Amino acid sequence: MMFPALASILLLISSARSFQYTELAQYVDSHQEEYVEALRDWVAIESDSSDILRRPDLHRMMDVVAQKLQLMGGTVQLVQVGEQELPGGQTLEFPKVVTAEFGNDTNKHTVCAYGHVDVQPAKLEDGWATDPYNLTEINGNLYGRGASDNKAPVLAWIHAIETYQALNMELPVNVKFLIEGMEETGSNGLDAMILAQRDTFFSDVDYIIISDCGWRSRRPALTYGTRGNCYFFAEVEGPKQDLHSGVYGGVVIEPMTDLIGILDTLISPSGKILIPGIREAVAPLSDEEWKMYQDIEFDMNYYKENIGVSQLMYNNKVDLLAHMWRYPTVSIHGIQGAFSASGTKTVIPAKVTAKFSIRQVPNMDPALVKKQVTDYLHSVFAKRKSPNKLEVTMVIGAKPWLADTQHPLYEAGKAAVKKVFNIDPDLIREGGTIPVAKTFQDVTGKSIIMLPIGGFDDGLHSQNEKISRYNYIEGTKLFIAFLNEVSQIKMSV
Ligand SMILES: [Zn+2]
Repeated sequence: MMFPALASILLLISSARSFQYTELAQYVDSHQEEYVEALRDWVAIESDSSDILRRPDLHRMMDVVAQKLQLMGGTVQLVQVGEQELPGGQTLEFPKVVTAEFGNDTNKHTVCAYGHVDVQPAKLEDGWATDPYNLTEINGNLYGRGASDNKAPVLAWIHAIETYQALNMELPVNVKFLIEGMEETGSNGLDAMILAQRDTFFSDVDYIIISDCGWRSRRPALTYGTRGNCYFFAEVEGPKQDLHSGVYGGVVIEPMTDLIGILDTLISPSGKILIPGIREAVAPLSDEEWKMYQDIEFDMNYYKENIGVSQLMYNNKVDLLAHMWRYPTVSIHGIQGAFSASGTKTVIPAKVTAKFSIRQVPNMDPALVKKQVTDYLHSVFAKRKSPNKLEVTMVIGAKPWLADTQHPLYEAGKAAVKKVFNIDPDLIREGGTIPVAKTFQDVTGKSIIMLPIGGFDDGLHSQNEKISRYNYIEGTKLFIAFLNEVSQIKMSV
Protein backbone atom coordinates (compact mmCIF):
# COMPACT_ATOMS: atom_id res chain seq x y z
CA MET A 1 0.00 0.00 0.00
CA MET A 2 1.48 3.33 -1.04
CA PHE A 3 0.51 6.76 0.30
CA PRO A 4 -1.16 8.87 -2.41
CA ALA A 5 1.34 11.69 -1.93
CA LEU A 6 4.29 9.36 -2.38
CA ALA A 7 2.67 7.82 -5.42
CA SER A 8 2.29 11.21 -7.07
CA ILE A 9 5.89 12.16 -6.30
CA LEU A 10 7.05 8.90 -7.90
CA LEU A 11 4.85 9.65 -10.88
CA LEU A 12 6.46 13.07 -11.19
CA ILE A 13 9.93 11.57 -11.09
CA SER A 14 9.08 8.97 -13.67
CA SER A 15 7.49 11.50 -16.01
CA ALA A 16 10.54 13.72 -15.66
CA ARG A 17 12.54 10.84 -17.12
CA SER A 18 9.88 10.08 -19.68
CA PHE A 19 10.81 8.06 -22.68
CA GLN A 20 11.30 10.15 -25.80
CA TYR A 21 10.78 7.38 -28.29
CA THR A 22 9.86 9.59 -31.22
CA GLU A 23 13.13 11.48 -31.08
CA LEU A 24 15.15 8.31 -30.74
CA ALA A 25 13.31 6.66 -33.65
CA GLN A 26 13.77 9.72 -35.83
CA TYR A 27 17.48 9.69 -35.11
CA VAL A 28 17.66 6.06 -36.24
CA ASP A 29 15.76 6.84 -39.44
CA SER A 30 18.01 9.73 -40.32
CA HIS A 31 21.17 7.71 -39.69
CA GLN A 32 20.22 4.55 -41.52
CA GLU A 33 22.72 5.05 -44.35
CA GLU A 34 25.52 5.05 -41.78
CA TYR A 35 24.14 1.86 -40.27
CA VAL A 36 24.08 0.18 -43.68
CA GLU A 37 27.68 1.31 -44.26
CA ALA A 38 28.70 -0.12 -40.89
CA LEU A 39 27.13 -3.44 -41.87
CA ARG A 40 28.95 -3.28 -45.22
CA ASP A 41 32.28 -2.90 -43.38
CA TRP A 42 31.54 -5.83 -41.11
CA VAL A 43 30.28 -8.12 -43.87
CA ALA A 44 33.47 -7.39 -45.83
CA ILE A 45 35.49 -9.16 -43.12
CA GLU A 46 35.47 -12.83 -44.00
CA SER A 47 35.09 -14.04 -40.42
CA ASP A 48 34.41 -17.68 -41.27
CA SER A 49 35.08 -19.57 -38.04
CA SER A 50 35.12 -22.98 -39.71
CA ASP A 51 38.11 -22.14 -41.94
CA ILE A 52 41.39 -22.03 -40.03
CA LEU A 53 42.97 -20.04 -42.88
CA ARG A 54 40.50 -17.25 -42.07
CA ARG A 55 41.53 -17.05 -38.45
CA PRO A 56 43.42 -13.74 -38.94
CA ASP A 57 40.20 -12.21 -40.37
CA LEU A 58 38.31 -13.51 -37.37
CA HIS A 59 40.81 -11.96 -34.95
CA ARG A 60 40.49 -8.69 -36.88
CA MET A 61 36.70 -8.91 -36.65
CA MET A 62 36.85 -9.20 -32.87
CA ASP A 63 39.27 -6.24 -32.72
CA VAL A 64 36.90 -4.15 -34.83
CA VAL A 65 34.02 -4.94 -32.46
CA ALA A 66 36.15 -4.13 -29.41
CA GLN A 67 37.38 -0.86 -30.88
CA LYS A 68 33.88 0.23 -31.80
CA LEU A 69 32.59 -0.40 -28.28
CA GLN A 70 35.63 1.30 -26.79
CA LEU A 71 35.11 4.42 -28.93
CA MET A 72 31.57 4.58 -27.55
CA GLY A 73 32.98 4.80 -24.04
CA GLY A 74 32.35 1.23 -22.98
CA THR A 75 34.58 -0.68 -20.58
CA VAL A 76 35.84 -3.28 -23.01
CA GLN A 77 37.78 -6.51 -22.61
CA LEU A 78 39.08 -9.02 -25.08
CA VAL A 79 38.93 -12.31 -23.21
CA GLN A 80 41.12 -15.24 -24.21
CA VAL A 81 39.20 -18.50 -24.38
CA GLY A 82 41.90 -21.01 -25.26
CA GLU A 83 43.32 -22.78 -28.25
CA GLN A 84 42.06 -25.04 -30.95
CA GLU A 85 43.96 -28.27 -31.50
CA LEU A 86 44.68 -28.99 -35.13
CA PRO A 87 45.33 -32.43 -36.62
CA GLY A 88 49.10 -32.85 -36.46
CA GLY A 89 49.44 -31.43 -32.96
CA GLN A 90 49.59 -27.73 -33.79
CA THR A 91 47.39 -25.26 -31.97
CA LEU A 92 45.56 -22.14 -33.09
CA GLU A 93 44.21 -19.43 -30.82
CA PHE A 94 40.44 -19.12 -30.67
CA PRO A 95 39.14 -15.62 -31.39
CA LYS A 96 38.85 -13.66 -28.18
CA VAL A 97 35.43 -13.00 -26.70
CA VAL A 98 34.54 -9.30 -26.46
CA THR A 99 32.83 -8.05 -23.32
CA ALA A 100 31.75 -4.46 -22.78
CA GLU A 101 29.90 -2.51 -20.12
CA PHE A 102 27.93 0.72 -20.41
CA GLY A 103 26.91 2.10 -17.04
CA ASN A 104 27.03 0.56 -13.58
CA ASP A 105 24.25 2.38 -11.76
CA THR A 106 23.05 0.03 -9.02
CA ASN A 107 19.61 1.67 -9.14
CA LYS A 108 19.13 0.34 -12.64
CA HIS A 109 18.64 -3.10 -14.09
CA THR A 110 21.53 -4.58 -16.05
CA VAL A 111 20.99 -6.41 -19.31
CA CYS A 112 23.54 -8.38 -21.28
CA ALA A 113 23.15 -8.66 -25.05
CA TYR A 114 24.73 -11.76 -26.57
CA GLY A 115 25.70 -12.01 -30.22
CA HIS A 116 28.30 -13.46 -32.57
CA VAL A 117 30.27 -12.01 -35.46
CA ASP A 118 31.66 -15.18 -37.04
CA VAL A 119 29.93 -16.56 -40.11
CA GLN A 120 29.31 -19.75 -42.05
CA PRO A 121 31.43 -20.31 -45.17
CA ALA A 122 30.28 -18.66 -48.41
CA LYS A 123 31.62 -18.54 -51.95
CA LEU A 124 30.21 -16.89 -55.05
CA GLU A 125 30.48 -20.29 -56.79
CA ASP A 126 28.09 -21.79 -54.22
CA GLY A 127 25.35 -20.09 -56.17
CA TRP A 128 25.26 -16.60 -54.71
CA ALA A 129 23.77 -13.96 -57.00
CA THR A 130 26.16 -11.35 -55.53
CA ASP A 131 29.58 -11.41 -53.87
CA PRO A 132 28.79 -12.75 -50.37
CA TYR A 133 31.35 -10.43 -48.76
CA ASN A 134 30.24 -7.29 -50.56
CA LEU A 135 26.96 -6.16 -49.03
CA THR A 136 24.57 -5.53 -51.91
CA GLU A 137 21.17 -3.92 -51.65
CA ILE A 138 18.43 -5.19 -53.95
CA ASN A 139 14.79 -4.20 -53.46
CA GLY A 140 15.28 -3.23 -49.83
CA ASN A 141 17.23 -6.39 -48.96
CA LEU A 142 20.86 -6.29 -47.86
CA TYR A 143 22.60 -9.40 -49.19
CA GLY A 144 25.80 -10.67 -47.65
CA ARG A 145 27.17 -13.55 -45.57
CA GLY A 146 26.48 -12.92 -41.92
CA ALA A 147 24.13 -10.01 -42.66
CA SER A 148 21.30 -11.56 -40.66
CA ASP A 149 23.30 -14.19 -38.76
CA ASN A 150 24.39 -12.31 -36.73
CA LYS A 151 26.20 -9.11 -37.74
CA ALA A 152 23.22 -6.79 -38.30
CA PRO A 153 21.59 -7.70 -34.97
CA VAL A 154 24.87 -7.05 -33.12
CA LEU A 155 25.20 -3.70 -34.90
CA ALA A 156 21.58 -2.88 -34.16
CA TRP A 157 22.36 -3.30 -30.45
CA ILE A 158 25.40 -1.04 -30.80
CA HIS A 159 23.41 1.59 -32.71
CA ALA A 160 20.65 1.46 -30.09
CA ILE A 161 23.18 2.50 -27.43
CA GLU A 162 24.76 5.08 -29.74
CA THR A 163 21.37 6.67 -30.36
CA TYR A 164 20.75 7.25 -26.65
CA GLN A 165 24.27 8.67 -26.38
CA ALA A 166 23.94 10.93 -29.42
CA LEU A 167 20.78 12.50 -28.04
CA ASN A 168 22.34 12.89 -24.59
CA MET A 169 19.70 10.65 -23.12
CA GLU A 170 20.60 8.52 -20.17
CA LEU A 171 20.53 4.79 -20.84
CA PRO A 172 17.47 3.47 -19.00
CA VAL A 173 19.38 0.34 -17.92
CA ASN A 174 23.03 -0.68 -17.67
CA VAL A 175 24.01 -2.55 -20.80
CA LYS A 176 26.64 -5.23 -21.18
CA PHE A 177 27.76 -6.99 -24.34
CA LEU A 178 29.06 -10.51 -24.83
CA ILE A 179 30.18 -11.00 -28.43
CA GLU A 180 31.86 -14.20 -29.55
CA GLY A 181 33.53 -15.43 -32.73
CA MET A 182 33.12 -19.22 -32.71
CA GLU A 183 29.34 -19.65 -32.61
CA GLU A 184 29.06 -21.33 -35.98
CA THR A 185 31.41 -24.11 -34.94
CA GLY A 186 29.95 -24.71 -31.49
CA SER A 187 30.93 -21.68 -29.35
CA ASN A 188 34.28 -23.21 -28.43
CA GLY A 189 35.56 -21.97 -25.11
CA LEU A 190 32.45 -19.94 -24.33
CA ASP A 191 30.90 -22.26 -21.73
CA ALA A 192 34.12 -22.21 -19.71
CA MET A 193 34.37 -18.42 -20.06
CA ILE A 194 30.79 -17.93 -18.83
CA LEU A 195 31.46 -20.24 -15.90
CA ALA A 196 34.72 -18.43 -15.07
CA GLN A 197 33.01 -15.01 -15.10
CA ARG A 198 29.83 -16.07 -13.34
CA ASP A 199 30.73 -14.17 -10.19
CA THR A 200 32.36 -11.23 -11.93
CA PHE A 201 31.02 -10.07 -15.31
CA PHE A 202 27.66 -11.84 -14.87
CA SER A 203 27.18 -11.17 -11.16
CA ASP A 204 25.11 -7.99 -11.61
CA VAL A 205 23.42 -9.00 -14.88
CA ASP A 206 19.65 -9.30 -14.41
CA TYR A 207 18.61 -10.32 -17.90
CA ILE A 208 20.27 -11.89 -20.91
CA ILE A 209 19.08 -11.10 -24.41
CA ILE A 210 19.87 -13.24 -27.43
CA SER A 211 19.09 -11.89 -30.88
CA ASP A 212 20.43 -14.80 -32.91
CA CYS A 213 17.31 -16.18 -34.60
CA GLY A 214 14.49 -14.91 -36.77
CA TRP A 215 10.78 -14.27 -37.01
CA ARG A 216 8.43 -16.97 -38.28
CA SER A 217 6.53 -14.71 -40.68
CA ARG A 218 6.37 -10.99 -41.45
CA ARG A 219 5.04 -10.50 -37.96
CA PRO A 220 7.62 -9.68 -35.25
CA ALA A 221 8.21 -12.46 -32.78
CA LEU A 222 9.63 -13.26 -29.37
CA THR A 223 11.29 -16.66 -29.04
CA TYR A 224 10.77 -18.51 -25.78
CA GLY A 225 12.12 -21.98 -26.42
CA THR A 226 14.63 -24.04 -28.36
CA ARG A 227 14.95 -27.79 -28.72
CA GLY A 228 18.05 -29.58 -27.51
CA ASN A 229 19.74 -32.43 -29.30
CA CYS A 230 21.15 -35.85 -28.46
CA TYR A 231 23.40 -37.14 -31.23
CA PHE A 232 24.17 -40.85 -31.46
CA PHE A 233 26.55 -43.16 -33.27
CA ALA A 234 25.43 -46.79 -33.65
CA GLU A 235 28.21 -49.02 -34.93
CA VAL A 236 27.73 -52.59 -36.14
CA GLU A 237 30.90 -54.56 -36.69
CA GLY A 238 31.07 -57.97 -38.36
CA PRO A 239 33.77 -59.63 -40.44
CA LYS A 240 37.35 -58.42 -40.10
CA GLN A 241 37.28 -56.88 -43.60
CA ASP A 242 34.91 -55.92 -46.40
CA LEU A 243 33.70 -58.95 -48.38
CA HIS A 244 32.58 -59.75 -51.95
CA SER A 245 28.82 -60.17 -52.04
CA GLY A 246 29.02 -62.80 -54.78
CA VAL A 247 31.36 -64.96 -52.75
CA TYR A 248 30.06 -64.36 -49.21
CA GLY A 249 26.53 -63.03 -49.75
CA GLY A 250 23.92 -65.41 -48.32
CA VAL A 251 26.21 -67.00 -45.77
CA VAL A 252 27.59 -64.04 -43.83
CA ILE A 253 25.27 -62.09 -41.50
CA GLU A 254 25.73 -58.61 -42.85
CA PRO A 255 26.37 -55.62 -40.54
CA MET A 256 24.51 -53.25 -42.88
CA THR A 257 21.34 -55.38 -42.79
CA ASP A 258 21.55 -55.48 -39.00
CA LEU A 259 22.07 -51.74 -38.80
CA ILE A 260 19.20 -50.85 -41.11
CA GLY A 261 17.01 -53.34 -39.24
CA ILE A 262 17.58 -51.60 -35.93
CA LEU A 263 17.40 -48.09 -37.40
CA ASP A 264 13.97 -48.93 -38.75
CA THR A 265 12.73 -49.50 -35.19
CA LEU A 266 13.46 -45.94 -34.05
CA ILE A 267 10.49 -44.15 -35.59
CA SER A 268 7.31 -45.18 -37.41
CA PRO A 269 6.40 -43.86 -40.87
CA SER A 270 3.83 -41.59 -39.22
CA GLY A 271 6.51 -39.99 -37.03
CA LYS A 272 5.85 -41.88 -33.81
CA ILE A 273 9.04 -42.42 -31.80
CA LEU A 274 9.21 -46.10 -30.83
CA ILE A 275 11.92 -45.92 -28.17
CA PRO A 276 10.20 -46.66 -24.84
CA GLY A 277 10.12 -43.75 -22.40
CA ILE A 278 10.78 -40.94 -24.88
CA ARG A 279 7.20 -39.91 -25.65
CA GLU A 280 6.19 -40.37 -22.02
CA ALA A 281 8.76 -37.77 -20.92
CA VAL A 282 7.34 -35.00 -23.11
CA ALA A 283 5.49 -32.24 -21.27
CA PRO A 284 1.80 -32.40 -22.21
CA LEU A 285 0.39 -29.75 -24.56
CA SER A 286 -1.80 -27.42 -22.53
CA ASP A 287 -4.98 -25.76 -23.86
CA GLU A 288 -3.26 -22.43 -23.48
CA GLU A 289 -0.33 -23.49 -25.59
CA TRP A 290 -2.64 -24.98 -28.22
CA LYS A 291 -4.49 -21.69 -28.39
CA MET A 292 -1.21 -19.81 -28.72
CA TYR A 293 -0.18 -21.89 -31.75
CA GLN A 294 -3.55 -21.23 -33.35
CA ASP A 295 -2.92 -17.49 -33.28
CA ILE A 296 0.53 -17.68 -34.86
CA GLU A 297 0.90 -16.43 -38.39
CA PHE A 298 2.19 -19.30 -40.50
CA ASP A 299 1.76 -19.97 -44.21
CA MET A 300 1.82 -23.75 -44.73
CA ASN A 301 1.79 -23.53 -48.52
CA TYR A 302 4.72 -21.13 -48.60
CA TYR A 303 6.55 -23.40 -46.18
CA LYS A 304 6.04 -26.45 -48.40
CA GLU A 305 6.96 -24.54 -51.53
CA ASN A 306 10.07 -23.15 -49.92
CA ILE A 307 11.48 -26.62 -49.18
CA GLY A 308 10.02 -28.26 -52.28
CA VAL A 309 7.73 -30.90 -50.80
CA SER A 310 4.12 -31.69 -51.64
CA GLN A 311 3.14 -33.15 -48.28
CA LEU A 312 4.20 -32.80 -44.68
CA MET A 313 3.81 -35.11 -41.69
CA TYR A 314 0.82 -33.06 -40.49
CA ASN A 315 -1.60 -30.92 -42.41
CA ASN A 316 -2.86 -28.50 -39.82
CA LYS A 317 -0.96 -25.56 -38.41
CA VAL A 318 -1.11 -26.45 -34.72
CA ASP A 319 0.21 -30.00 -35.17
CA LEU A 320 2.89 -28.74 -37.49
CA LEU A 321 4.14 -25.99 -35.18
CA ALA A 322 3.92 -28.28 -32.16
CA HIS A 323 6.03 -30.94 -33.88
CA MET A 324 8.48 -28.33 -35.07
CA TRP A 325 8.99 -26.87 -31.60
CA ARG A 326 7.73 -28.90 -28.67
CA TYR A 327 7.89 -32.57 -29.60
CA PRO A 328 11.02 -34.67 -30.05
CA THR A 329 11.93 -36.24 -33.35
CA VAL A 330 14.43 -38.75 -34.70
CA SER A 331 16.48 -37.88 -37.78
CA ILE A 332 18.85 -40.34 -39.41
CA HIS A 333 21.75 -38.39 -40.89
CA GLY A 334 24.06 -40.91 -42.48
CA ILE A 335 25.88 -44.23 -42.45
CA GLN A 336 29.65 -44.13 -42.31
CA GLY A 337 31.41 -47.09 -43.88
CA ALA A 338 28.62 -47.72 -46.35
CA PHE A 339 29.37 -47.72 -50.06
CA SER A 340 28.25 -44.28 -51.18
CA ALA A 341 30.17 -43.53 -54.39
CA SER A 342 28.57 -43.72 -57.81
CA GLY A 343 28.78 -47.06 -59.60
CA THR A 344 27.94 -50.58 -58.53
CA LYS A 345 30.48 -51.94 -56.10
CA THR A 346 29.32 -55.37 -54.91
CA VAL A 347 30.67 -55.06 -51.41
CA ILE A 348 29.54 -56.26 -48.00
CA PRO A 349 30.86 -53.53 -45.69
CA ALA A 350 32.50 -55.03 -42.60
CA LYS A 351 31.73 -52.18 -40.26
CA VAL A 352 29.06 -49.49 -40.56
CA THR A 353 28.18 -46.62 -38.25
CA ALA A 354 24.82 -44.89 -38.32
CA LYS A 355 24.54 -41.26 -37.22
CA PHE A 356 21.19 -40.15 -35.89
CA SER A 357 19.92 -37.55 -33.49
CA ILE A 358 16.90 -36.96 -31.31
CA ARG A 359 15.77 -33.36 -30.78
CA GLN A 360 15.14 -32.75 -27.09
CA VAL A 361 12.20 -31.00 -25.50
CA PRO A 362 10.97 -30.48 -21.93
CA ASN A 363 10.96 -32.68 -19.83
CA MET A 364 13.42 -34.99 -21.54
CA ASP A 365 16.80 -35.51 -19.90
CA PRO A 366 19.77 -36.27 -22.21
CA ALA A 367 21.37 -38.59 -19.64
CA LEU A 368 18.20 -40.66 -19.47
CA VAL A 369 17.69 -40.52 -23.23
CA LYS A 370 21.19 -41.95 -23.67
CA LYS A 371 20.24 -44.94 -21.52
CA GLN A 372 16.83 -45.37 -23.15
CA VAL A 373 18.27 -45.38 -26.66
CA THR A 374 21.21 -47.63 -25.80
CA ASP A 375 19.08 -50.18 -23.93
CA TYR A 376 16.41 -50.19 -26.63
CA LEU A 377 18.80 -50.66 -29.55
CA HIS A 378 20.59 -53.47 -27.73
CA SER A 379 17.29 -55.21 -26.99
CA VAL A 380 16.14 -54.90 -30.60
CA PHE A 381 19.54 -56.08 -31.81
CA ALA A 382 19.50 -59.06 -29.42
CA LYS A 383 16.29 -60.30 -31.04
CA ARG A 384 18.11 -60.57 -34.35
CA LYS A 385 20.48 -63.13 -32.77
CA SER A 386 23.29 -61.69 -34.85
CA PRO A 387 26.91 -62.61 -34.17
CA ASN A 388 27.91 -59.02 -35.08
CA LYS A 389 28.84 -56.46 -32.45
CA LEU A 390 26.73 -53.38 -31.74
CA GLU A 391 28.08 -50.31 -29.99
CA VAL A 392 25.96 -47.24 -29.23
CA THR A 393 27.50 -43.93 -28.14
CA MET A 394 26.01 -40.50 -27.53
CA VAL A 395 28.36 -37.77 -28.76
CA ILE A 396 26.26 -34.64 -28.12
CA GLY A 397 23.77 -34.14 -25.29
CA ALA A 398 22.37 -30.59 -25.48
CA LYS A 399 19.37 -29.79 -23.31
CA PRO A 400 16.29 -27.88 -24.48
CA TRP A 401 15.59 -24.36 -23.26
CA LEU A 402 12.22 -22.90 -22.39
CA ALA A 403 11.27 -19.55 -20.86
CA ASP A 404 8.12 -18.36 -19.13
CA THR A 405 6.25 -16.07 -21.54
CA GLN A 406 4.47 -14.43 -18.60
CA HIS A 407 7.78 -13.30 -17.09
CA PRO A 408 8.16 -9.48 -16.87
CA LEU A 409 11.02 -9.74 -19.34
CA TYR A 410 8.65 -11.12 -21.97
CA GLU A 411 6.05 -8.51 -21.06
CA ALA A 412 8.78 -5.93 -21.75
CA GLY A 413 9.44 -7.59 -25.11
CA LYS A 414 5.75 -7.57 -26.01
CA ALA A 415 5.43 -3.90 -25.05
CA ALA A 416 8.50 -2.96 -27.10
CA VAL A 417 7.15 -4.73 -30.19
CA LYS A 418 3.82 -3.00 -29.69
CA LYS A 419 5.56 0.37 -29.41
CA VAL A 420 7.62 -0.01 -32.59
CA PHE A 421 5.39 -2.11 -34.85
CA ASN A 422 1.99 -1.36 -33.32
CA ILE A 423 1.17 -5.07 -33.27
CA ASP A 424 1.42 -7.90 -30.74
CA PRO A 425 4.33 -10.26 -31.39
CA ASP A 426 4.00 -13.93 -32.18
CA LEU A 427 5.40 -16.04 -29.37
CA ILE A 428 7.45 -18.70 -31.07
CA ARG A 429 9.98 -21.41 -30.43
CA GLU A 430 12.95 -22.61 -32.45
CA GLY A 431 13.12 -26.23 -33.52
CA GLY A 432 16.90 -26.00 -33.59
CA THR A 433 19.37 -25.81 -30.75
CA ILE A 434 21.02 -22.65 -29.36
CA PRO A 435 23.10 -24.26 -26.61
CA VAL A 436 24.31 -20.94 -25.21
CA ALA A 437 20.78 -20.20 -23.94
CA LYS A 438 20.81 -23.29 -21.77
CA THR A 439 24.36 -22.55 -20.60
CA PHE A 440 23.36 -19.03 -19.58
CA GLN A 441 20.35 -20.39 -17.74
CA ASP A 442 22.22 -23.19 -15.95
CA VAL A 443 25.40 -21.28 -15.11
CA THR A 444 24.15 -17.78 -14.36
CA GLY A 445 20.56 -18.55 -13.29
CA LYS A 446 19.47 -15.35 -15.06
CA SER A 447 16.28 -14.88 -17.06
CA ILE A 448 16.76 -15.00 -20.80
CA ILE A 449 14.79 -13.64 -23.71
CA MET A 450 15.35 -14.23 -27.39
CA LEU A 451 14.48 -11.05 -29.21
CA PRO A 452 14.99 -11.67 -32.91
CA ILE A 453 15.03 -9.02 -35.62
CA GLY A 454 15.90 -11.24 -38.61
CA GLY A 455 13.27 -12.04 -41.23
CA PHE A 456 11.71 -15.48 -41.72
CA ASP A 457 13.24 -15.78 -45.19
CA ASP A 458 16.77 -14.48 -44.53
CA GLY A 459 18.46 -17.68 -45.72
CA LEU A 460 20.79 -18.16 -42.77
CA HIS A 461 23.71 -20.49 -43.55
CA SER A 462 22.43 -20.61 -47.12
CA GLN A 463 23.16 -18.88 -50.43
CA ASN A 464 22.00 -15.27 -50.74
CA GLU A 465 21.71 -14.62 -47.01
CA LYS A 466 20.19 -11.20 -46.39
CA ILE A 467 18.51 -8.98 -43.90
CA SER A 468 16.00 -6.42 -45.05
CA ARG A 469 16.76 -2.77 -44.44
CA TYR A 470 13.36 -2.62 -42.76
CA ASN A 471 14.19 -5.33 -40.22
CA TYR A 472 17.63 -3.87 -39.57
CA ILE A 473 16.40 -0.33 -38.96
CA GLU A 474 13.14 -1.14 -37.19
CA GLY A 475 15.05 -3.77 -35.21
CA THR A 476 17.36 -1.02 -33.93
CA LYS A 477 14.29 0.86 -32.74
CA LEU A 478 12.98 -2.32 -31.15
CA PHE A 479 16.14 -2.61 -29.05
CA ILE A 480 15.87 1.06 -28.07
CA ALA A 481 12.27 0.57 -26.95
CA PHE A 482 13.07 -2.72 -25.24
CA LEU A 483 15.74 -1.13 -23.03
CA ASN A 484 13.18 1.39 -21.85
CA GLU A 485 10.58 -1.33 -21.18
CA VAL A 486 13.09 -3.35 -19.17
CA SER A 487 13.79 -0.29 -17.01
CA GLN A 488 10.09 -0.35 -16.05
CA ILE A 489 10.36 -3.84 -14.53
CA LYS A 490 10.06 -3.61 -10.75
CA MET A 491 13.41 -4.01 -8.98
CA SER A 492 13.41 -7.08 -6.81
CA VAL A 493 14.28 -6.28 -3.20
ZN1 LIG B 1 23.74 -17.21 -35.46
